[in-house]
Amino acid sequence: MNNDIVIIGAGPVGLFTVFEAGLLGLNCTLIDNLDKPGGQCSELYPDKPIFDIPGVPYQTAQEHVDALLKQIEPFSYDLILNERVDELSDNNGSWTVATNAGKRISTKNVFIAAGAGAFEPIKPNLKSDYSRFEGKQIFYSIKNKEVFKDKKVVIFGGGDSALDWTLELQKIGAQVTLVHRRDAFRGAPESEMKVREHAARDSIKLLTPYILQDIHGDTEIEKTILDTLRSLRPAGVLLAPLGRASDKRHIEEFCRDVPTILFDSNIEGMGEAFIGSDNFSFVSQTVEYLSRTGSTPTFFEMSDPANPNANKRRNAYLAMMKQLELEPHMVQIEGSGWEFEEIGRAGALKILKQDALPTDTILCSNDRLAIGLLSACYELGIRVGREKDSELRVASHDDHPYSKFTCPSLTTAAHDYESVASQSVDTLFKLIEAGGRFNNREEKLFAARLIMRDSA
Ligand SMILES: Cc1cc2nc3c(=O)[nH]c(=O)nc-3n(C[C@H](O)[C@H](O)[C@H](O)COP(=O)(O)OP(=O)(O)OC[C@H]3O[C@@H](n4cnc5c(N)ncnc54)[C@H](O)[C@@H]3O)c2cc1C
Repeated sequence: MNNDIVIIGAGPVGLFTVFEAGLLGLNCTLIDNLDKPGGQCSELYPDKPIFDIPGVPYQTAQEHVDALLKQIEPFSYDLILNERVDELSDNNGSWTVATNAGKRISTKNVFIAAGAGAFEPIKPNLKSDYSRFEGKQIFYSIKNKEVFKDKKVVIFGGGDSALDWTLELQKIGAQVTLVHRRDAFRGAPESEMKVREHAARDSIKLLTPYILQDIHGDTEIEKTILDTLRSLRPAGVLLAPLGRASDKRHIEEFCRDVPTILFDSNIEGMGEAFIGSDNFSFVSQTVEYLSRTGSTPTFFEMSDPANPNANKRRNAYLAMMKQLELEPHMVQIEGSGWEFEEIGRAGALKILKQDALPTDTILCSNDRLAIGLLSACYELGIRVGREKDSELRVASHDDHPYSKFTCPSLTTAAHDYESVASQSVDTLFKLIEAGGRFNNREEKLFAARLIMRDSA
């Protein structure tokens, strides 16, 4: 092959070089190791808008590449894709360009428009093997932003790409959290300013300085664990599923293949039996105690809870208030995920600052929310406790290991873990002896125990 110019790299610079060369009547061969022209624009951010092209107020990166391709249509050029240039040698006044596919091209001129190089993502070095999430939940580039519409997205990084995508995905309705290891960004100052404005208005969440330590995908990990378990062909399995986050179809298939007893978190109809705590008995005891000893309790919970027991506890509160002929009061705070302490603290600060509590007794759905709430009370100088000069009583559920160390120590309701554990094991042995199936699915729920401490 012989031609005037070989251009290594078919990114925007390589494409425009074809145009400039064409104006001079020179013909080119473009070589790129990607499967399409466009370089970073097509490979990494085809959907992202570009605002800094002279004379073009708005263009997505792919539209920019398409325009460059249109611009060079009148000129003749060869495009070699999926081949990497590996060698460049001086050959008595001309150059020989060799590719990894064995092609050799002689030319008088070589333009190296390799940009960021034959790029591959720089992946975080983490403990877990997260490769199974790649392309499904973990992405190193965005080819189609619609995939992220209305989704919860966490972006890690501090350059233009991280800032631009934070703004762009927020715009299409994604709930974006931007995480960076420093509280300073390398990207355009204007984009950084916009991101900070959004963060101040709570329309995005900005976490700095935070470092990505590891990646866990609960649902995927649960599926992998179940598949591994199944391959061991066990006689029976005691399974505490994630609950609401579980892939129900996968659990159902597993229970069909392996004799299974569910415990701790129930999924209706699955497994041969469920052994757990009786959520009604938690809430009935706390509500009864609080309303007997002071003002009626206001139920404090997340509007979109992640944990499986939350909805049962809400219903139990409403049922119990009805039974006692008391008016129910609910405070539902915003927040999603499992950072309950922080969600409880932020939600409580908002409510307490607005003086929006209907009664001066709060019953939290779980202890971790209560721990956050107690910290908000401390920040605002609100005295919590059951003494006469206290302004607020706070109680909760679960008897979290830290609940006795809060200030004041937390009044709560404890699980009877011992009974749940021994009953689960007994039932599993019964199931194995019965040949792996019960005629009817059993459910055994253990009552909670009220633990009275200083907060209410
Ligand atoms: C997320 C993101 C957002 C950005 N946003 C903007 C923006 O808004 N505005 C802006 O001005 N810039 C932006 N940029 C930067 C811009 O994309 C780059 O400056 C531009 O792509 C550089 O063009 P290029 O042609 O020099 O190189 P590249 O686009 O990097 O293309 C180089 C090409 O060379 C190929 N190549 C490399 N080595 C070889 C080899 N040995 N053999 C064969 N092929 C090879 C590569 O496969 C690649 O296709 C952004 C970049 C990123 C990552």
